[in-house]
Amino acid sequence: MLRADGKELIMARRAAYTKVERKNFSNPDHVKGMGDKTFRGFQCLEKDCTEFIFIQAETIDPDFHIECPTCGFVHQAGETTSLYDYELIDTRDNSEIESGPFEILHDDYVGESKEFKYCIVCGALKPFELFDTHRSRRTGRQGECRTCKQVYNSIKNQTRLVEQHREASQKRRLYTHFEERDKMDIAAIYERFGNQCFKCGLDLASDLTAGVARKEGNLDHTLPVFYLWPLTTNNATLLCREHNGEKAEKWPSVYYSDAELRRLSALTGIEYGELSGEPIFNPHALKTLEDPSFVEALFEKFARHPDELLRLRNRILRETGFDFLDTSAKISPDWKLQADALLS
Ligand SMILES: [Zn+2]
Ligand SMILES: [Zn+2]
Ligand SMILES: [Zn+2]
Repeated sequence: MLRADGKELIMARRAAYTKVERKNFSNPDHVKGMGDKTFRGFQCLEKDCTEFIFIQAETIDPDFHIECPTCGFVHQAGETTSLYDYELIDTRDNSEIESGPFEILHDDYVGESKEFKYCIVCGALKPFELFDTHRSRRTGRQGECRTCKQVYNSIKNQTRLVEQHREASQKRRLYTHFEERDKMDIAAIYERFGNQCFKCGLDLASDLTAGVARKEGNLDHTLPVFYLWPLTTNNATLLCREHNGEKAEKWPSVYYSDAELRRLSALTGIEYGELSGEPIFNPHALKTLEDPSFVEALFEKFARHPDELLRLRNRILRETGFDFLDTSAKISPDWKLQADALLS
């Protein structure tokens, strides 16, 4: 069987002849033998109590009696908890039809609770949907959680998943330092874009609750945060999930057609020349990098995994000639050597 991608063929073959051996592994006592046990998890029904109760599903019989370990509230089969007193009103003449307690039956409450089980690798109690299905196991779920399985597979296939995810996480953390957000008017952004993805026109009106959008998930930085532009009412483009992912760090001129750039300029008020030109760093953000205490704080925060910070330094230096490693005399000159090493 020939595959178009030779590299994948080699990876697949190598994976078939590898195995991951575990050393220095042991499960804590409370997880031992628990891989196939189902737990139910629910918040204590006593309103003021914050306890989240986990109970082994096998021990919940039809006549259950579950006491909250924090407040002692008893969840008892056949019992109800009253949340308020209701009056049913006939709106034509405001007369009362009936009244009574608004109550929850404990059987319904416990019965609809979520299923959890322990991961036999990380030892965490997690909801069922975080485990892949496995027909022959008692829970119908695999022993290890999806995260642990992904890490396992990444070791086996040598795809370095954790490093990739850590890089993405460092990037998100680093760039939030330049996000001086105004109070965004999300509803105005949705209105501006007619509740549609700017790229494909997909209807995003389902993001609206009672006619108002509050979610930021489908908002894209028009001028990217990769160039230190914050997400603001004026710098937001409404994009569906797919096109948000596609646009990502790209400068508008790299991603949009000329007609789209003209339309985007009209909608956002950002000059056409800026959208269609070369990427430029946000000058206000560059100013903050002239503040020694800001730069020192960044280096303190990212000292353990500095690569993203140093890559940012390299990009700014290359494109503007400004080296924020020169901002503070307290920053060790060794960082320059490390940053230069990332260039090769
Ligand atoms: Zn309680
Ligand atoms: Zn796990
Ligand atoms: Zn789209």
